[in-house]
Amino acid sequence: MDLLLDFVIVFAVIYAVMVAVYFATGLTLSFINYRHPERRIQKHRDGSKRMWLEIRASMHALATSSLLLSGGYFAQSQGWTLFEPLALSWWSFPLMFAICFVLFDAWFYWGHRILHLPSLYKWHVPHHKSVAPTVWSNDSSTTIDTLIEHGFYFIVWFVLPVPALSVFALRLFDQISGMVGHSGFEYFASRSSRFPSPLICTTFHDLHHSQFHYNYGNFFSFWDRVCGTVHPKYDELVQEMELTGEVPDTKDARVGKSAA
Ligand SMILES: [Zn+2]
Ligand SMILES: [Zn+2]
Repeated sequence: MDLLLDFVIVFAVIYAVMVAVYFATGLTLSFINYRHPERRIQKHRDGSKRMWLEIRASMHALATSSLLLSGGYFAQSQGWTLFEPLALSWWSFPLMFAICFVLFDAWFYWGHRILHLPSLYKWHVPHHKSVAPTVWSNDSSTTIDTLIEHGFYFIVWFVLPVPALSVFALRLFDQISGMVGHSGFEYFASRSSRFPSPLICTTFHDLHHSQFHYNYGNFFSFWDRVCGTVHPKYDELVQEMELTGEVPDTKDARVGKSAA
């Protein structure tokens, strides 16, 4: 009984922090975007009509995600995992953070690809109702969608000797970068977000929402490039933004089948 109470406390703290980060990031980015209308990516669409729907769905999805994170952390703290965590140090924290960063990107890419299979797409389609995503869209996902995409945050504790701080830092970074990636406004297009760099900018995932069949990755374009799913005009678009300093409407970059 004490064990259950301990777990409920861990879950409640993690969920409260996640919700606080969601609103703090969402409000901050909304304020910045409000002041920079010229940075909007899909100039002919406004996704903000779905804001309350998305916030409601996000409260559920963040609870599921927090359950996964707290479940894994709790299991490790009870010694139920394969390995003892490495002691937190100047090298173990960044090393395990970097390893988790790369592994999570691969997990997310393949989980996301699987969610686009016809048999599973019904669990992912609510996330895609946001054709022009906003800061509030990042966590607007069903429970099954979240269990698949965020399952990593439960499993990783069992198979790697991760210091807790490395995984918590990854979840925090993932939450904020995911919200920036859904914000619908571009500030980060540069040489570092196009080939040969593996990094991406907001336009990358925005194209996934507006054109569906491309750009499944989370932090990197690596798996999309290896598997041929990167949007054919992504690099060109980033280069155009670099040269002109302006954000072009991505509807001009349509390829094949696209959203209505
Ligand atoms: Zn998708
Ligand atoms: Zn998305």
